[in-house]
Amino acid sequence: MTGLVEVQVAPVALERLASLLPPERVERIEVYAAEARRLLAGRTVWNVSSTARGGGVAEMLHTLVAYAAGTGIGIRWFVIGGDPGFFTVTKRIHNRLHGVPGDDGALDAAARATYDATQARHVDELVDLVQPGDVVLLHDPQTAGLAGALRERGAWVVWRCHVGLDESNQWTKEAWGFLEELVAPAHAVVFSREEFAPDWVDRRWLRIIPPSLDPFSPKNAEMAPAEVEALVHRPGLVVEGPPLPTDAPLVLQVSRWDRLKDMAGVMEAFAAHLDELPPDVHLVLAGPETDGVADDPEASEVLAECRERHRSLPERARLRIHLVSVPMDDLDANARTVNALQRRAAVVVQKSLAEGFGLTVTEPMWKSRPVVASAVGGIRDQVEHGVSGLLLDDPRDGAELAAALTSLLGDEDRRLALGRAAHLRVRDQYLADRHLIQYVDLFAQLLA
Ligand code: UDP
Repeated sequence: MTGLVEVQVAPVALERLASLLPPERVERIEVYAAEARRLLAGRTVWNVSSTARGGGVAEMLHTLVAYAAGTGIGIRWFVIGGDPGFFTVTKRIHNRLHGVPGDDGALDAAARATYDATQARHVDELVDLVQPGDVVLLHDPQTAGLAGALRERGAWVVWRCHVGLDESNQWTKEAWGFLEELVAPAHAVVFSREEFAPDWVDRRWLRIIPPSLDPFSPKNAEMAPAEVEALVHRPGLVVEGPPLPTDAPLVLQVSRWDRLKDMAGVMEAFAAHLDELPPDVHLVLAGPETDGVADDPEASEVLAECRERHRSLPERARLRIHLVSVPMDDLDANARTVNALQRRAAVVVQKSLAEGFGLTVTEPMWKSRPVVASAVGGIRDQVEHGVSGLLLDDPRDGAELAAALTSLLGDEDRRLALGRAAHLRVRDQYLADRHLIQYVDLFAQLLA
C-alpha cells in the first residue's frame, strides 16, 4: 500500500462519556464542545498517521476522532502508506528518539532521500484535500515531512509527537537533527511530556497533552466473566507454551513486539525468579500478530527471538510462560481479547525500557488492575508509586520486578487498593474530556 487511505470512524456522542463524569466536568466539556464548533465552523480537522491499527496512536485516534465527530466537528483521519525502506528509516528515528540506535543504519542523506520519496507521494493528494484555514494534526516522525507543504497550502499545522526520552543522548540528538528542519514549518507541536521536547521547539507553541482512553471502546468496556473466559481460552491464541490455565493467577504484559517493551526481559525475570514467586502463578506475554502492524518492521524478528528464548527455557518455566499472538484481522476481536486478558490478570506489568506514554498501563489501571511498570518517560506521570501502582526504578533489573510481583501476589488487599486508586487516577486524568479540552485550547490560540 503506497497511497493515502482514509480511516472510517463512526461518530460517538459526547453524552456517552458524560455518563461517567461528575456534573462539573460534563458542563465544562459542553462549553468546550460549543467553543470547538464555533472555532472550527467551515474548517476540517485532518489527522495523518502511519497506521490505523496496533499501537497507541491508532488506539487513541479511534477514540478522539469518534468523540470529536460526535460533537459535530468536521474531522477526518488518513493513514500514509510506505514501502519497507521507509518504515525501516522511520523505525530507526523512533528508536533513536527513545535513546537507542535500533539498527546499525544511519540517518544520513540516503535515509533522508528514502524518507522524502515517500512524503512526496502523499503531498499532492493531501494538498488537494486540505483547504486553507483547515487544521492538520500530523502524528509522529512518519508524517513530519508533510508540514511544510501543508503550511504553504494555508493550513494550520500541528505536529503531535507521541514518543520521547527524558534526557537526550547521542541517538536522540541524531534523530532530532533529522527532524528539526521537517518539523520547523509546523505552527505548534504537542508532546506527552515537557522533557521530550527538544530545545529548539518554541515554548510558546509547545503543548503538553498526554493521551487518554475510551472507557466504552471494545478495549475497555465492561465485560461479563463468561466472555472473559471464552476469549482468554480461545483456541490458537497461545503460540508458545501450553494453553492458559483456568484458575491460576496471571501476570500479564501486553505490548507490540518492540525491543523497547522488553518482553524478553519480563520472561527472563519470571524464569530466573520462578522459585520466589507463588507456585501457581503464570506469565502471559501478549502482542499483535506480527504481520498486522504495517509501520513496525522489527516486530516479526522480536517475536521470533522471544519464541526461541521460550523454547530454550527449562521445562518448569516453559510450562508457566505463555506467548500470545492476538489476531489483527478483526480489530474489534483483537481489542476484546486484550480487554479480556487485562481483566483476567492478577497483576499487569509494563517493563518498558523507554516509553512516551503507555496506554498498556492506563488500560489495566482503568480496569482496576494493579500495575508494576518501569519508571520511564510518561509512565512516571501515569502511576504514582505505591498509590496507583508500583514503579520499578531500574527497568533492566529483573530482580526488582520479581520482588514487586512476589510481594503483590502475596497481598490481595494491596492489589485491590492499588487497583481502586488506579481506576480513579484514570478517571481523573486520562479520559477524553481532558484531552479534547486541551486541543480546543490549542486551536483557540492558533486560530485567534
Ligand atoms: N495493543 C493491542 N493488541 C496487541 C498489543 C497491543 O491492541 O496485541 C494495543 C494496546 O492495548 C494499546 C496499544 O496497542 O492500546 C499500545 O499503546 P502504548 O501506548 O502502550 O504503546 P505503543 O505501542 O504506542 O508504543
